[in-house]
Amino acid sequence: MKIGLEVHVALPTKSKLFCACSTTSEEPNSSICPICLGFPGSKPMLNKAALEYSLDVASALKCVSKNRTSFVRKVYFYPDLPKSYQITQLHDAIGVDGHLDLEKKRVRIRRIQLEEDPAKIIREDNYTLVDFNRSGLPLLEIVTEPDIASEDELREFLNELRSILYYLGVDIEKELKVDLNISVSDARVEVKNVTGIRNLVDAARYEIKRQEELVSKKQKIVAETRSYNEKSLKTDASREKESDEEYGFIYEPDLTFYKIEEKEREEPIIASRIAEAISKKYGCSKKTLLELVQFDSKALELLQHSQGKWPIQSIINVIEVLKRYESIKLSNEKFTELLEISKSGHQITDQIIKNVTSGSHVKVTVSDVSSEEIDEEIGKMIAANPKIMLEHEKNPKALNFIVGAVAKKLNASPRLVSERLGLVLKKGFKN
Ligand SMILES: [Zn+2]
Repeated sequence: MKIGLEVHVALPTKSKLFCACSTTSEEPNSSICPICLGFPGSKPMLNKAALEYSLDVASALKCVSKNRTSFVRKVYFYPDLPKSYQITQLHDAIGVDGHLDLEKKRVRIRRIQLEEDPAKIIREDNYTLVDFNRSGLPLLEIVTEPDIASEDELREFLNELRSILYYLGVDIEKELKVDLNISVSDARVEVKNVTGIRNLVDAARYEIKRQEELVSKKQKIVAETRSYNEKSLKTDASREKESDEEYGFIYEPDLTFYKIEEKEREEPIIASRIAEAISKKYGCSKKTLLELVQFDSKALELLQHSQGKWPIQSIINVIEVLKRYESIKLSNEKFTELLEISKSGHQITDQIIKNVTSGSHVKVTVSDVSSEEIDEEIGKMIAANPKIMLEHEKNPKALNFIVGAVAKKLNASPRLVSERLGLVLKKGFKN
Protein backbone atom coordinates (compact mmCIF):
# COMPACT_ATOMS: atom_id res chain seq x y z
CA MET A 1 0.00 0.00 0.00
CA LYS A 2 1.29 3.43 -0.92
CA ILE A 3 0.26 6.90 0.17
CA GLY A 4 1.66 10.08 -1.34
CA LEU A 5 0.69 13.58 -0.27
CA GLU A 6 0.36 17.04 -1.72
CA VAL A 7 0.36 19.31 1.31
CA HIS A 8 -0.74 22.93 0.94
CA VAL A 9 0.50 25.25 3.62
CA ALA A 10 -0.46 28.93 4.04
CA LEU A 11 2.61 31.03 4.76
CA PRO A 12 2.25 33.54 7.63
CA THR A 13 3.28 36.66 5.73
CA LYS A 14 1.68 40.05 6.42
CA SER A 15 0.94 40.73 2.75
CA LYS A 16 -0.07 38.58 -0.20
CA LEU A 17 2.37 36.79 -2.50
CA PHE A 18 2.41 39.32 -5.35
CA CYS A 19 0.82 42.51 -3.96
CA ALA A 20 0.72 44.59 -0.78
CA CYS A 21 -2.81 43.55 0.28
CA SER A 22 -3.12 42.35 3.87
CA THR A 23 -3.48 38.62 4.48
CA THR A 24 -5.69 38.99 7.54
CA SER A 25 -8.86 40.87 6.49
CA GLU A 26 -12.14 39.32 7.50
CA GLU A 27 -14.78 41.42 5.74
CA PRO A 28 -15.19 39.71 2.31
CA ASN A 29 -13.53 41.48 -0.64
CA SER A 30 -11.98 44.15 1.60
CA SER A 31 -8.33 43.25 0.96
CA ILE A 32 -8.08 43.49 -2.82
CA CYS A 33 -6.24 45.52 -5.43
CA PRO A 34 -5.74 45.55 -9.22
CA ILE A 35 -2.98 42.91 -8.90
CA CYS A 36 -4.90 40.25 -6.96
CA LEU A 37 -8.03 41.00 -9.00
CA GLY A 38 -6.05 40.45 -12.20
CA PHE A 39 -6.80 43.81 -13.82
CA PRO A 40 -5.19 44.27 -17.24
CA GLY A 41 -1.89 46.10 -16.94
CA SER A 42 -1.31 45.27 -13.26
CA LYS A 43 2.01 43.66 -12.47
CA PRO A 44 2.87 41.21 -9.70
CA MET A 45 5.84 41.74 -7.36
CA LEU A 46 7.24 38.84 -5.36
CA ASN A 47 6.95 38.99 -1.56
CA LYS A 48 10.46 38.43 -0.21
CA ALA A 49 9.26 37.10 3.16
CA ALA A 50 7.30 34.35 1.39
CA LEU A 51 10.42 33.37 -0.55
CA GLU A 52 12.48 33.27 2.67
CA TYR A 53 9.93 31.08 4.48
CA SER A 54 9.87 28.71 1.49
CA LEU A 55 13.63 28.40 1.41
CA ASP A 56 13.69 27.73 5.18
CA VAL A 57 11.16 24.92 4.73
CA ALA A 58 13.07 23.48 1.76
CA SER A 59 16.27 23.51 3.78
CA ALA A 60 14.63 21.91 6.85
CA LEU A 61 13.26 19.15 4.61
CA LYS A 62 16.73 18.62 3.11
CA CYS A 63 15.69 19.65 -0.39
CA VAL A 64 18.11 20.62 -3.11
CA SER A 65 17.60 24.19 -4.32
CA LYS A 66 18.88 25.65 -7.56
CA ASN A 67 20.57 29.01 -7.51
CA ARG A 68 17.50 30.52 -9.09
CA THR A 69 13.74 30.26 -8.96
CA SER A 70 11.08 31.29 -11.45
CA PHE A 71 7.34 31.23 -11.96
CA VAL A 72 4.88 30.04 -14.59
CA ARG A 73 1.26 30.68 -15.42
CA LYS A 74 -0.96 27.65 -15.09
CA VAL A 75 -3.77 28.50 -17.44
CA TYR A 76 -7.33 27.33 -16.81
CA PHE A 77 -10.67 29.01 -16.63
CA TYR A 78 -12.53 29.03 -13.34
CA PRO A 79 -14.47 31.72 -11.45
CA ASP A 80 -11.93 31.75 -8.61
CA LEU A 81 -9.16 32.86 -10.99
CA PRO A 82 -9.74 36.39 -12.26
CA LYS A 83 -6.65 36.30 -14.51
CA SER A 84 -7.63 32.88 -15.94
CA TYR A 85 -4.29 31.58 -14.75
CA GLN A 86 -2.63 30.83 -11.44
CA ILE A 87 0.95 31.90 -10.85
CA THR A 88 2.85 28.80 -9.72
CA GLN A 89 6.16 27.04 -10.36
CA LEU A 90 7.29 24.36 -12.78
CA HIS A 91 10.98 24.05 -13.67
CA ASP A 92 12.72 26.11 -11.00
CA ALA A 93 10.78 25.02 -7.93
CA ILE A 94 11.95 26.18 -4.50
CA GLY A 95 13.40 22.75 -3.74
CA VAL A 96 13.43 19.13 -4.93
CA ASP A 97 14.62 15.69 -3.75
CA GLY A 98 14.36 16.19 0.01
CA HIS A 99 13.24 13.92 2.82
CA LEU A 100 11.69 13.80 6.25
CA ASP A 101 12.76 11.01 8.60
CA LEU A 102 10.16 9.29 10.73
CA GLU A 103 11.09 6.98 13.60
CA LYS A 104 11.47 3.96 11.33
CA LYS A 105 11.04 5.34 7.86
CA ARG A 106 12.32 7.95 5.46
CA VAL A 107 9.64 9.75 3.45
CA ARG A 108 11.08 11.37 0.34
CA ILE A 109 9.98 14.87 -0.60
CA ARG A 110 9.63 15.19 -4.37
CA ARG A 111 9.29 18.96 -4.59
CA ILE A 112 8.36 22.15 -2.79
CA GLN A 113 6.88 25.04 -4.72
CA LEU A 114 5.48 28.46 -4.07
CA GLU A 115 2.17 29.53 -5.60
CA GLU A 116 -0.77 31.86 -5.14
CA ASP A 117 -4.07 30.78 -3.64
CA PRO A 118 -7.14 31.27 -5.85
CA ALA A 119 -10.14 33.22 -4.56
CA LYS A 120 -12.68 31.54 -2.31
CA ILE A 121 -15.91 30.27 -3.83
CA ILE A 122 -18.99 30.15 -1.62
CA ARG A 123 -21.83 28.18 -3.12
CA GLU A 124 -25.37 28.96 -2.04
CA ASP A 125 -28.56 27.32 -3.32
CA ASN A 126 -29.18 29.47 -6.37
CA TYR A 127 -26.03 31.50 -6.69
CA THR A 128 -22.30 31.55 -6.08
CA LEU A 129 -20.26 34.17 -4.21
CA VAL A 130 -16.58 34.88 -4.69
CA ASP A 131 -14.34 36.32 -1.95
CA PHE A 132 -11.12 37.71 -3.43
CA ASN A 133 -9.46 38.26 -0.03
CA ARG A 134 -7.97 34.79 -0.56
CA SER A 135 -6.86 35.54 -4.12
CA GLY A 136 -3.07 35.78 -4.08
CA LEU A 137 -2.37 34.47 -0.55
CA PRO A 138 1.01 32.71 -0.44
CA LEU A 139 0.81 28.92 -0.51
CA LEU A 140 3.59 26.42 -0.23
CA GLU A 141 2.97 23.04 -1.85
CA ILE A 142 4.96 20.14 -0.46
CA VAL A 143 4.75 16.98 -2.58
CA THR A 144 5.96 13.64 -1.19
CA GLU A 145 6.86 10.42 -2.96
CA PRO A 146 4.36 7.60 -2.22
CA ASP A 147 6.47 6.31 0.68
CA ILE A 148 3.87 6.28 3.45
CA ALA A 149 2.61 2.74 3.98
CA SER A 150 0.15 2.83 6.88
CA GLU A 151 -2.29 4.96 8.82
CA ASP A 152 0.22 5.25 11.69
CA GLU A 153 2.98 6.44 9.36
CA LEU A 154 0.58 8.97 7.88
CA ARG A 155 -0.25 10.36 11.33
CA GLU A 156 3.42 10.42 12.33
CA PHE A 157 4.44 12.16 9.10
CA LEU A 158 1.77 14.84 9.43
CA ASN A 159 2.61 15.55 13.08
CA GLU A 160 6.34 15.60 12.35
CA LEU A 161 5.89 17.94 9.37
CA ARG A 162 3.59 20.17 11.39
CA SER A 163 6.12 20.32 14.22
CA ILE A 164 9.03 21.23 11.91
CA LEU A 165 6.93 23.95 10.26
CA TYR A 166 5.74 25.19 13.66
CA TYR A 167 9.33 25.74 14.77
CA LEU A 168 10.01 27.62 11.51
CA GLY A 169 7.16 29.99 12.39
CA VAL A 170 4.58 28.40 10.09
CA ASP A 171 1.74 27.00 12.20
CA ILE A 172 -0.46 24.94 9.92
CA GLU A 173 -2.95 23.63 12.44
CA LYS A 174 -5.89 25.54 10.99
CA GLU A 175 -4.72 25.88 7.40
CA LEU A 176 -3.54 22.40 6.52
CA LYS A 177 -5.06 21.26 3.21
CA VAL A 178 -3.92 18.02 1.63
CA ASP A 179 -4.55 15.86 -1.43
CA LEU A 180 -4.02 12.18 -0.62
CA ASN A 181 -2.96 9.71 -3.30
CA ILE A 182 -3.74 6.20 -2.15
CA SER A 183 -3.08 2.97 -4.02
CA VAL A 184 -3.71 -0.42 -2.51
CA SER A 185 -3.15 -2.11 -5.89
CA ASP A 186 -2.11 -0.52 -9.20
CA ALA A 187 -4.81 2.11 -9.57
CA ARG A 188 -4.12 5.48 -7.99
CA VAL A 189 -7.03 7.17 -6.25
CA GLU A 190 -6.77 10.81 -5.33
CA VAL A 191 -8.75 12.19 -2.39
CA LYS A 192 -8.78 15.94 -2.81
CA ASN A 193 -8.79 18.85 -0.36
CA VAL A 194 -8.90 17.16 3.01
CA THR A 195 -8.30 19.57 5.89
CA GLY A 196 -6.87 18.82 9.34
CA ILE A 197 -4.76 15.90 10.54
CA ARG A 198 -7.64 14.00 12.08
CA ASN A 199 -9.75 14.17 8.91
CA LEU A 200 -6.75 13.10 6.83
CA VAL A 201 -6.20 10.00 8.91
CA ASP A 202 -9.93 9.19 8.90
CA ALA A 203 -10.12 9.68 5.11
CA ALA A 204 -7.09 7.45 4.54
CA ARG A 205 -8.48 4.73 6.82
CA TYR A 206 -11.79 4.69 4.93
CA GLU A 207 -10.15 4.74 1.50
CA ILE A 208 -7.68 1.94 2.33
CA LYS A 209 -10.50 -0.24 3.60
CA ARG A 210 -12.65 0.51 0.56
CA GLN A 211 -9.86 -0.41 -1.83
CA GLU A 212 -8.91 -3.53 0.12
CA GLU A 213 -12.50 -4.74 0.01
CA LEU A 214 -12.62 -4.26 -3.76
CA VAL A 215 -9.38 -6.24 -4.10
CA SER A 216 -10.66 -9.07 -1.92
CA LYS A 217 -13.83 -9.26 -4.05
CA LYS A 218 -11.61 -9.25 -7.14
CA GLN A 219 -13.28 -6.05 -8.36
CA LYS A 220 -11.53 -3.31 -10.27
CA ILE A 221 -10.39 -0.17 -8.47
CA VAL A 222 -11.10 2.85 -10.66
CA ALA A 223 -8.33 5.44 -10.90
CA GLU A 224 -10.30 8.53 -10.00
CA THR A 225 -10.59 11.67 -7.92
CA ARG A 226 -12.70 11.39 -4.81
CA SER A 227 -13.77 13.81 -2.12
CA TYR A 228 -13.97 13.21 1.62
CA ASN A 229 -17.19 13.84 3.50
CA GLU A 230 -16.44 14.81 7.11
CA LYS A 231 -19.95 13.97 8.27
CA SER A 232 -20.34 10.48 6.79
CA LEU A 233 -16.57 9.77 7.21
CA LYS A 234 -16.61 8.35 3.66
CA THR A 235 -15.02 9.23 0.34
CA ASP A 236 -17.19 9.63 -2.75
CA ALA A 237 -16.30 9.77 -6.43
CA SER A 238 -16.36 13.42 -7.41
CA ARG A 239 -17.64 14.70 -10.69
CA GLU A 240 -14.23 15.91 -11.78
CA LYS A 241 -12.60 14.53 -14.88
CA GLU A 242 -10.76 11.28 -14.33
CA SER A 243 -7.78 11.95 -16.53
CA ASP A 244 -5.17 14.51 -15.59
CA GLU A 245 -6.38 17.89 -16.63
CA GLU A 246 -4.57 19.53 -19.48
CA TYR A 247 -3.12 22.77 -18.32
CA GLY A 248 -1.34 25.28 -20.44
CA PHE A 249 1.89 26.34 -18.77
CA ILE A 250 3.73 29.40 -19.96
CA TYR A 251 6.48 31.40 -18.32
CA GLU A 252 5.28 34.31 -16.25
CA PRO A 253 6.79 37.24 -18.17
CA ASP A 254 5.87 39.79 -15.48
CA LEU A 255 8.18 38.18 -12.93
CA THR A 256 11.88 37.79 -13.32
CA PHE A 257 14.22 34.93 -12.50
CA TYR A 258 15.11 35.27 -8.85
CA LYS A 259 18.64 34.53 -7.86
CA ILE A 260 18.92 32.48 -4.71
CA GLU A 261 22.09 33.22 -2.87
CA GLU A 262 23.66 30.36 -1.05
CA LYS A 263 23.68 30.99 2.64
CA GLU A 264 23.97 28.91 5.73
CA ARG A 265 20.51 28.37 7.10
CA GLU A 266 20.17 27.59 10.77
CA GLU A 267 19.64 23.94 11.62
CA PRO A 268 15.88 23.49 12.07
CA ILE A 269 14.53 22.65 15.50
CA ILE A 270 13.28 19.08 15.33
CA ALA A 271 11.36 18.51 18.55
CA SER A 272 11.18 14.74 18.10
CA ARG A 273 14.96 14.48 17.90
CA ILE A 274 15.43 16.59 21.04
CA ALA A 275 12.82 14.52 22.89
CA GLU A 276 14.60 11.34 21.82
CA ALA A 277 17.99 12.56 23.03
CA ILE A 278 16.61 13.64 26.43
CA SER A 279 14.66 10.42 26.89
CA LYS A 280 17.81 8.38 26.21
CA LYS A 281 19.90 10.49 28.56
CA TYR A 282 17.53 10.43 31.53
CA GLY A 283 15.56 7.26 30.86
CA CYS A 284 12.13 8.81 30.58
CA SER A 285 9.44 8.27 27.96
CA LYS A 286 10.06 9.90 24.59
CA LYS A 287 6.33 9.89 23.92
CA THR A 288 5.60 11.93 27.07
CA LEU A 289 8.31 14.46 26.24
CA LEU A 290 7.15 14.76 22.65
CA GLU A 291 3.57 15.40 23.75
CA LEU A 292 4.87 18.31 25.83
CA VAL A 293 7.07 19.97 23.24
CA GLN A 294 5.99 18.95 19.72
CA PHE A 295 3.95 22.12 19.19
CA ASP A 296 5.06 24.25 22.14
CA SER A 297 8.25 26.27 21.89
CA LYS A 298 7.84 27.63 25.43
CA ALA A 299 7.69 24.12 26.89
CA LEU A 300 10.74 23.15 24.83
CA GLU A 301 12.65 26.16 26.13
CA LEU A 302 11.83 25.36 29.77
CA LEU A 303 12.72 21.69 29.26
CA GLN A 304 16.06 22.45 27.63
CA HIS A 305 16.93 25.09 30.21
CA SER A 306 16.29 22.92 33.26
CA GLN A 307 17.25 19.43 32.09
CA GLY A 308 20.19 18.10 34.04
CA LYS A 309 19.64 20.58 36.87
CA TRP A 310 16.46 19.05 38.24
CA PRO A 311 14.99 15.56 38.24
CA ILE A 312 13.48 15.03 34.80
CA GLN A 313 10.21 13.80 36.30
CA SER A 314 9.74 17.04 38.30
CA ILE A 315 10.35 19.05 35.14
CA ILE A 316 7.80 16.99 33.23
CA ASN A 317 5.24 17.28 36.04
CA VAL A 318 5.53 21.05 36.33
CA ILE A 319 5.36 21.58 32.54
CA GLU A 320 2.30 19.34 32.42
CA VAL A 321 0.55 21.55 34.99
CA LEU A 322 1.66 24.71 33.15
CA LYS A 323 0.29 23.41 29.86
CA ARG A 324 -3.24 23.56 31.23
CA TYR A 325 -2.83 27.32 30.79
CA GLU A 326 -2.81 27.75 27.05
CA SER A 327 -0.83 30.93 26.70
CA ILE A 328 1.34 30.98 29.76
CA LYS A 329 4.37 33.24 29.61
CA LEU A 330 6.94 32.22 32.13
CA SER A 331 10.61 33.05 32.50
CA ASN A 332 13.19 30.38 33.19
CA GLU A 333 13.68 31.92 36.66
CA LYS A 334 10.00 31.63 37.56
CA PHE A 335 10.01 28.08 36.25
CA THR A 336 12.92 27.35 38.58
CA GLU A 337 10.87 28.76 41.48
CA LEU A 338 8.11 26.31 40.63
CA LEU A 339 10.61 23.44 40.51
CA GLU A 340 11.88 24.42 43.96
CA ILE A 341 8.34 24.44 45.35
CA SER A 342 7.74 21.08 43.72
CA LYS A 343 10.97 19.74 45.26
CA SER A 344 9.81 20.73 48.73
CA GLY A 345 7.06 18.19 48.27
CA HIS A 346 4.24 20.54 47.38
CA GLN A 347 1.77 19.88 44.64
CA ILE A 348 1.98 22.63 42.03
CA THR A 349 -1.53 24.04 42.04
CA ASP A 350 -3.25 26.66 39.92
CA GLN A 351 -2.97 29.10 42.83
CA ILE A 352 0.78 28.58 43.19
CA ILE A 353 1.28 29.17 39.46
CA LYS A 354 -0.82 32.31 39.65
CA ASN A 355 1.24 33.60 42.57
CA VAL A 356 4.55 32.85 40.93
CA THR A 357 3.66 34.23 37.48
CA SER A 358 2.03 37.39 38.85
CA GLY A 359 5.30 38.03 40.65
CA SER A 360 3.53 38.46 43.96
CA HIS A 361 6.16 36.12 45.37
CA VAL A 362 3.82 34.53 47.79
CA LYS A 363 6.31 31.92 48.81
CA VAL A 364 4.72 28.69 49.64
CA THR A 365 5.88 28.05 53.13
CA VAL A 366 5.63 24.74 54.73
CA SER A 367 4.45 25.39 58.25
CA ASP A 368 6.97 24.38 60.89
CA VAL A 369 4.82 21.66 62.24
CA SER A 370 6.70 19.17 64.41
CA SER A 371 7.15 15.47 63.71
CA GLU A 372 5.15 14.68 66.84
CA GLU A 373 2.19 16.70 65.62
CA ILE A 374 2.34 14.91 62.29
CA ASP A 375 2.57 11.50 63.96
CA GLU A 376 -0.39 12.35 66.14
CA GLU A 377 -2.50 13.42 63.18
CA ILE A 378 -1.46 10.28 61.28
CA GLY A 379 -2.61 8.22 64.25
CA LYS A 380 -6.01 9.90 64.21
CA MET A 381 -6.42 9.36 60.48
CA ILE A 382 -5.49 5.71 60.68
CA ALA A 383 -7.91 5.16 63.53
CA ALA A 384 -10.65 6.86 61.56
CA ASN A 385 -9.99 4.83 58.41
CA PRO A 386 -9.54 1.17 59.39
CA LYS A 387 -10.48 0.01 55.90
CA ILE A 388 -7.47 1.72 54.37
CA MET A 389 -5.17 -0.04 56.77
CA LEU A 390 -6.58 -3.39 55.66
CA GLU A 391 -6.28 -2.44 52.02
CA HIS A 392 -2.79 -0.96 52.02
CA GLU A 393 -0.96 -4.29 52.19
CA LYS A 394 -2.41 -5.23 48.85
CA ASN A 395 -2.36 -1.72 47.47
CA PRO A 396 0.30 0.64 48.90
CA LYS A 397 -1.29 3.55 47.03
CA ALA A 398 -4.21 3.40 49.46
CA LEU A 399 -2.01 5.30 51.91
CA ASN A 400 -1.84 8.34 49.62
CA PHE A 401 -5.22 9.34 50.98
CA ILE A 402 -3.82 9.58 54.50
CA VAL A 403 -0.72 11.48 53.36
CA GLY A 404 -2.84 13.96 51.43
CA ALA A 405 -5.34 14.52 54.22
CA VAL A 406 -2.68 15.02 56.93
CA ALA A 407 -0.55 17.33 54.75
CA LYS A 408 -3.58 19.44 53.96
CA LYS A 409 -4.77 19.69 57.55
CA LEU A 410 -1.39 20.69 58.97
CA ASN A 411 -0.10 22.55 55.89
CA ALA A 412 2.84 20.17 56.00
CA SER A 413 4.98 18.91 53.16
CA PRO A 414 3.50 15.71 51.71
CA ARG A 415 7.00 14.30 51.46
CA LEU A 416 7.57 14.77 55.21
CA VAL A 417 4.16 13.28 56.04
CA SER A 418 4.95 10.32 53.84
CA GLU A 419 8.26 9.75 55.65
CA ARG A 420 6.60 9.99 59.05
CA LEU A 421 3.87 7.59 57.97
CA GLY A 422 6.54 5.10 56.89
CA LEU A 423 8.16 5.31 60.34
CA VAL A 424 4.86 5.05 62.15
CA LEU A 425 3.98 1.91 60.22
CA LYS A 426 7.43 0.41 60.83
CA LYS A 427 7.19 0.94 64.56
CA GLY A 428 3.87 -0.73 64.39
CA PHE A 429 0.84 1.35 64.95
CA LYS A 430 -0.97 0.50 68.14
CA ASN A 431 -4.59 1.42 68.05
ZN1 LIG B 1 -3.85 42.77 -3.83
